[in-house]
Amino acid sequence: MLNESQPRRKTRVVKIGSVSIGGDHPIVVQSMTITDTRDVEATAAQINGLAEVGCEMARVAVVDNGAAESLGKIKSKIGIPLIADIHFNYKHALTAIEQGVDKVRINPGNIGGEKKFRQVIRALRDSGMPSRIGVNAGSLEMDLIDRYGFPTAEAIVESAERHIAVCAEEDYDQFVVSLKSSNVPMSVRAYSLFAAKNDIPLHIGITEAGDPTYGAIKSAAGLGPLLVNGIGDTVRVSLLGDPRIEIPVAYDILKATGRRIQSPEIVACPSCGRIEIDLEKIVAEVKQRLGKSTLPIVVSVLGCVVNGPGEAREADIGIAAGRGYGMLFKKGVMIRKLQEDEMVDALVDEIQRMEQELATDALQA
Ligand code: SF4
Repeated sequence: MLNESQPRRKTRVVKIGSVSIGGDHPIVVQSMTITDTRDVEATAAQINGLAEVGCEMARVAVVDNGAAESLGKIKSKIGIPLIADIHFNYKHALTAIEQGVDKVRINPGNIGGEKKFRQVIRALRDSGMPSRIGVNAGSLEMDLIDRYGFPTAEAIVESAERHIAVCAEEDYDQFVVSLKSSNVPMSVRAYSLFAAKNDIPLHIGITEAGDPTYGAIKSAAGLGPLLVNGIGDTVRVSLLGDPRIEIPVAYDILKATGRRIQSPEIVACPSCGRIEIDLEKIVAEVKQRLGKSTLPIVVSVLGCVVNGPGEAREADIGIAAGRGYGMLFKKGVMIRKLQEDEMVDALVDEIQRMEQELATDALQA
């Protein structure tokens, strides 16, 4: 299917351990632990659990010296890059660097002023360590709040630009930037304004996205327009609860915006009074049978002849159903007429054939 998203914004590459952010690298999915970072075993176990469901980098809160000094031990027990999340105390950032984490996240707005921020940037530069400069609407400098009256997208961008200027003066460019707010329009505007001005990779996310259902919707509303417009090099979906639930939501947002498709996208109609087959059962079975397929295709399953043939033609493969029968389309061409009870088998067989063809092509390439 045609992908009408804008081309990805051109950004420089920042390497975080074994993972690269920016350039043509896939948009990286990350999350944050909710364990006490001083508890090495529990934190490492949570990170490994996150990695199992597809998380590619994990951030941990560094709340005190004990947490900062646990970082090296945590890193030795995990297989994905470790990010130290620092607020308030610049010394924890220095300890995190010594502990050899893969990346440090700092909020320059609450680290204790420019002198301390500069000290952290020098330590990052000297150790060759990447970072995230994380600007938050909630911790903007007082002079910006005085001037703008309250946090605005422009104030967030101006704050980020000040910190970037310090990095340039210190000859340090291995960083990504985030411009977060819990307000979706403000976030979208801040990221869009910033993205137009430079090639710095962006970590995108909406802060305090809230309970899982509303949080997922809020994240999709904020990240969606950015991703469609080519903005964003790493994402975090913030949801309350077990952080593993964030990962499939992040991948679904990337899939829905055409940015990173790692499994078939199933397009099903919601059904209506015209439905003539048991669509819910068919879709559930297709979903279950496709299981862990990583084929980046669009599969459409529609309930009647109103939109079915049109949608099925646009998808990579699809079924347009009628009364007790269906038409199987592949790449826009009707290839078979099917009875209702053979639809799922035929569709899944055809998708498996496509998967084999792709594997053969890859071997021959
Ligand atoms: Fe209704 Fe047919 Fe549209 Fe499905 S495809 S929602 S059954 S009109």
